[in-house]
This record gives sequence, structure tokens and C-alpha cells, in this order.
Amino acid sequence: MKRRILTGFLAAVSLCFLTACHGAERMPSDRKEENVVSGAFQGEAKEGGLRVRVDVVVKENQITHIEILEHSETPGFEKTMTQLIDDIVARNCVQVDAVSGATQTSSRLLKAVEQAVLAAGLNPEELVPREQIEQNLNKESGQVDCDILIIGSGGAGLSAAIEARSKGNDHIIVLEKMSFGGGNTRMSGGEYAAPGNWVQESLGIEDSEELFFSDIYEGGQRGGNPELIQILVENALPNAYWLRDFVGVKYKDQQSWYGGHTVSRTLWPVGDGPNYVDTLIDKAVEMGTEIQYNTRAEELVMDESGRVTGVRARRKGMVVEYTAGKGVILATGGFGANVEMRMKYDTRWNDLDESISTTNSPAIVGDGLVMAEKAGANLVGMEEIQLYPINNPATGNYYFMDYARLNSNALLINKEGRRFVDEKDTRDHLSEAMLRQPDLKVYELIDSRVVREMNLEQLYESEISKCYDQGVLVRGSLQECCEYFDLPVEEVQKTIERFNTFVEAGKDEDFGRTQNLEKVGSDSYYMFSCIVSVHHTMGGVEIDPCARVIGTDGLPIPGLYAAGEVTGGIHGKNRLGSMSMPDTVTFGRIAAQSAREMK
Ligand code: ADP
Repeated sequence: MKRRILTGFLAAVSLCFLTACHGAERMPSDRKEENVVSGAFQGEAKEGGLRVRVDVVVKENQITHIEILEHSETPGFEKTMTQLIDDIVARNCVQVDAVSGATQTSSRLLKAVEQAVLAAGLNPEELVPREQIEQNLNKESGQVDCDILIIGSGGAGLSAAIEARSKGNDHIIVLEKMSFGGGNTRMSGGEYAAPGNWVQESLGIEDSEELFFSDIYEGGQRGGNPELIQILVENALPNAYWLRDFVGVKYKDQQSWYGGHTVSRTLWPVGDGPNYVDTLIDKAVEMGTEIQYNTRAEELVMDESGRVTGVRARRKGMVVEYTAGKGVILATGGFGANVEMRMKYDTRWNDLDESISTTNSPAIVGDGLVMAEKAGANLVGMEEIQLYPINNPATGNYYFMDYARLNSNALLINKEGRRFVDEKDTRDHLSEAMLRQPDLKVYELIDSRVVREMNLEQLYESEISKCYDQGVLVRGSLQECCEYFDLPVEEVQKTIERFNTFVEAGKDEDFGRTQNLEKVGSDSYYMFSCIVSVHHTMGGVEIDPCARVIGTDGLPIPGLYAAGEVTGGIHGKNRLGSMSMPDTVTFGRIAAQSAREMK
């Protein structure tokens, strides 16, 4: 596979600085009382022509969260630095080892964090005495007992947590390795496919469970598990009502659409993934679930009979042993951000090395799969890795403004100025087609009518402004757009004219597109460059209809349940867009019911 060319960072690199210096900024909301400091503090390091700026959250002299606000390092910097950030937070210490192979880069990040700590009025050397940290490392910090232990606070873990507390009074603990919850679910749009939903009804769109089943099954190239798909199909709508009416998720009055769905059936929460996840967290906490952050599960504990009885986890360097009387629910997500694992398992894309970005949170590295496999779980469909087609080359994350292509009219063109695919096809087909294009260069073209009608400038104002800074988006005449990306304007003009003749004839002779066959206008355009990114891993632990994890011997492993992206085999070779939420909620709830009843 050829390496993609990262145009987006040209703009970021222009932030380069020639001299070494460090700066820090204090935020107004800080609180400092008798040397006990809480608040958010910014720090910056400029060195060797490169710059990093971070936001460090301190709670009572403990670093609880670090966010990279901006940088002029190479793409993927945030992901490379995940381990370093984890170490700093886990040890509450700025004197941690550099990431191997990235010493200079690590040093700049550490200096930026140090500056933020200084801005907090703390001495980086004295955050927590070093000797104490060393004493803490690997020290047993006792045992915590609960009834149900959930690992991971994404969509699946939180749904399980809420359901687990809906009946009875079980003590539920959720472990989350990051300092905040949500995983990939937080990074998504929170879209939820449900046939027969209230927005469909209001729009007069007819739908059925049969059609929904067939879309999912065909979308997964008939590789999915029909029994589990059927459960998904039957539960999608009731669970949409559960989210709206019980959990309190607010939905927009409009729907969204994704490739592979015969009709529009995707509910869309107000505030996308972040609001969706925060609503789930609030509900879970309100119902009495305990969420323990910065706590990474490392190993499943089993008794002599082979029953999973708990988890060994690590928090701030210390080992914490959890016992779960009724069971453990794995909800750790997939492994899209683990390059080694995707290289190991992938058989479809040839080479999913670090040159291919991911839309995933850096936390999504397959921890649950490793733990489960060690405990005897059967892994299924691990080779099925989904690439998402329309992502920002500067970040690897999807363009939210691609909403225009999904719900209206846009063209995808290559560096020769030609269309190469049905723009409405499924994500795996689009990705395949993109990977065949010269130099892997692909651009989305949206005309001004669509920009206006889809309200793109208002809806995605902040994304659009970032994209300009990153150099991945241009707006203007066709000539201006093509010049910006060095595309042959005459060819692009011909492509538009050819497409418009197909619209007049009502038939796309080139790629058979049937949806939104609408003419592309001629005044001004938005054009942005796109890359593929690893998005979803369809493989994972095998589960049965009760969300019990199945062992390599074909039998359920007592005390172990799983839900969400950590599970495998449900969707087959491709998961349709907006199917992740119904999956996580459906199997999250089922896992909790099964654990509650010790099935
Ligand atoms: P899903 O969509 O299946 O719910 P998400 O990606 O949304 O998956 O969420 C998975 C969550 O699990 C993330 O918040 C991630 O940080 C968390 N997680 C992953 N591995 C561990 C681990 N070893 N211990 C605790 N939390 C984990």
C-alpha cells in the first residue's frame, strides 16, 4: 500500500519557531488555597522549530488530565504521546521516561507539561515525592468488592451500567482507564439507526425490521451472525425509546443517512457523541453507579472452577484487585488504535501500518481482547477491519461536514480530476476505491447550493475554521479550488458536466449512483482533501444471545460478559454507519441483565 501524503500539516508546520523557549498561561478559573491547587493550566514548549501547547488539569495537586491543544509536530503526534501522557497522569510526575524512538518529541511535551505545572504554582519536582511513587509501584492497594464490574465507559459500558442498576440494588463499578469517559462513542456523532422511529414517522418514511435486517446482513456481505443481528433488529427501536425517555438523550428532529441503509432511519442526538455520552454518564451516576477513572484493567481473575471472579487493575502505579460477585462485563471497545494488532490480524487491506491514521481514541488498543483471550475466550472475525473513507489528513478523524455527501449531493474526485466511485456507496467500498487512486489523493467537492441548503457553515463552523488553518479545505471558484490542490481544472469541469448530463438522463452511467442525483452548480464550491482511516474493528470476543463470552471450547465462560466493539462476528465484513449505538445499547443492556441474573 502506498503511503498517503499529508497535505494538512503544511499550515501547522508554518507555526515553526527557530529558537528554544517555553511559556505558560494561567486560566482565570484556577483555584489555589494554601498550596492545594485545582484548575486548568496551559503550558507551551518551542524548540528546534517545533511547538507544543497543552492544557493540564490539576485536582488537589494531582495531574488528572492532559490535552494537547495544538502542535506543529508530525501527524499522529497525539497518538504517539498517549503512553507518555498516561504515565504522567498515572504517576503524577513529569520525570517519566521518553517514548522510545521519540525522545525529542517526548521532551517537548514534557517541557510543555512542566510549564503548565509551574503555571499552577507547583514545583514539578514536588508533585508527589518520587520515593512515594516508587513505593506505590506494583504495591497491592487492597481489594475492592462489588457485584458487577464493567470495564470501559463507552456506549456499551455505560448502557450496561444504567441497566444493571435499573433493578435491585447491586453495587456496580465501572473502570475507565482514561481520565474521562466515552471512548470512541464520545468521538462519534452518536447516530443511532432504528427502523420505524419517530422521525421517520413524522416524515412518512416507511421502514420495517425485515428491511433493517437485510441491510445489516447484506452490508456485512452476509458474514454477520444472523441470530445476533436479529436481536439487534428487534431491540433497536425499543432501545431508542429507552435512550430518549429513560436515559434522557435529546434527539434532533432531523435524521441522517449512511451508505447501505435502504431508507433514512438514523436518529441523531443533539450535541453529537459528547452530549450523548455525558447524558449516559449523568444517568449512570444518578442511578448509583460508581465510575473509577484513571484505572486500567489489566487481567481477568478466575477461580479454580474457571469462573471469572474479578479483575486486576492499576491506578496511579498501584495494583488494585476487584472482585465482582455476579460477573465482569467487558466493554473496552475494539483495537483500531493498536497498529501492531491491526497488522497482525488484517487480511483485507494489505498493510495497516502507522501511516494509516485512525478515527479512534488512543485508548482503543484491544486491552479487553488480550485479557479475554488469556482467559480462554474465542475471538471471531478479527481480520475484519473497517476503514472509514472521508477523513481529515491533518488529524485522521472524520469530517463531520461530510454530512453533505451523505445527505445531499457531493462528488468525490481524484488528483486527475475524475470521479471514481458511487459517492453513496458503503464505507468499505468507498475506502477500497480511494486506496486505488493515484497517490491516494481524493477530494470532496460540494457546491454552494448544498452548502447553503445543508446549513454547513453554521453547523460546522468550528470544524471549517480549523480545516482552513490545517490547509485541508478551500472555498472559491472551481479555478481557485483546483489551483489550491493542484488539480487540472479542465478535467474537473468536464467531470461536473458529465455528471450533470447523467442527472438530466436520470442515470449515472459511470458508477450507477441512484441517490441525490442532483446537478452540481457552477458558481462556488467547498473542496477538501480526504484520506482513509482505520475506524471500526468488526472482530472480537464471541458472545451468545445472552452476551455471555464464549470460550474456545464453545461454552460460555462463567462470570464473563461482553458488549460493544470488543465483541466480534455480529456485523460480518462491514458494519453499517450508525449501527454502533444500537449495538452497544442492545448488548450492553443484555450483558447487564445476564450478569444481574448470573446467567
Ligand atoms: P464501545 O463503543 O464498544 O462502548 P468505546 O470505544 O466507546 O467502545 O469505549 C470503550 C471504553 O473502554 C473507552 O472509554 C476506553 O478508554 C475504555 N477502556 C479500554 N481499555 C480499558 C481498560 N483496560 N481498562 C479500563 N478502561 C478501558
